[in-house]
Amino acid sequence: MRDFSNDLPALALNTATLGHNLDGYGAGWTPERVIDACAERGLGGIVFWRREIGGRAVEIGERVRAAGMQVVGLCRTPYIVGSAAESPDEIKASIDMAAGLGTDVLTIVTGGTEPGTKGVLESQKILGERVAAVAGFAAERGVKLALEPLNPMFGGNRTVLMSVADAVRVCDWVGAANVGVAVDVYHVWWDTGLAESLAAAKDRIFGYHLCDWLEDTSDMLLDRGMMGDGVADLEAIRAAVEDAGYTGACEVEIFSARDWWRRDPGEVLDVMVERFRTVC
Ligand code: ZN
Repeated sequence: MRDFSNDLPALALNTATLGHNLDGYGAGWTPERVIDACAERGLGGIVFWRREIGGRAVEIGERVRAAGMQVVGLCRTPYIVGSAAESPDEIKASIDMAAGLGTDVLTIVTGGTEPGTKGVLESQKILGERVAAVAGFAAERGVKLALEPLNPMFGGNRTVLMSVADAVRVCDWVGAANVGVAVDVYHVWWDTGLAESLAAAKDRIFGYHLCDWLEDTSDMLLDRGMMGDGVADLEAIRAAVEDAGYTGACEVEIFSARDWWRRDPGEVLDVMVERFRTVC
């Protein structure tokens, strides 16, 4: 297992941690200010959300690299299945944005159960067909598609993938080298079969997302914990991810309307760095 006690290049900020994925939250730092603050602290990378990028993908990507870091991911495609699914052209536009940023990972949160179906298996098959239809387009642009399973409580309207095993099954159906999984502590911490699923994913783990599960969580979407403040076994999860072969970035992604989004972003980044060194 990698030792991060004195080494930060593997640490990446997902800007959601500063409240940047939802209107009305966070301190409103520009991408440039976020880039400078991360570079000052020695981070290796940043993950942005589409809403922050607009038409500036190339410019922001170059700015990150000029600061000595990488854009290690983009969140995320529009929904691909479910009643809120968007068109293949919208999916392709998000792939183009990732390519413009110069990142090789685009995360997929699938969207919910397909209208007219029950359960998740049929929706997973439709998801597989729709991901397969854009996988070549993404490969031509050097972009990997990372299917992110969500905690089962997000089934219905946000996801049809509730576990890494679900995501690996869809990857197997698609059968493309650039279609893999993203592993987020918040969504997988409960899964006692996680290590086996990760072993099956092997070199198709394209992302690892850090946070914690608070013992008494008060909001299923917006009350994630800082690493070390909750009950997820962070070291065991990372060991399983790395045993499967993952050597990429560890991306801190904390949605926290009542706590971390109310703090100064500089403080959030400082605590994040300290926790990454000591409890992850
Ligand atoms: Zn995530």
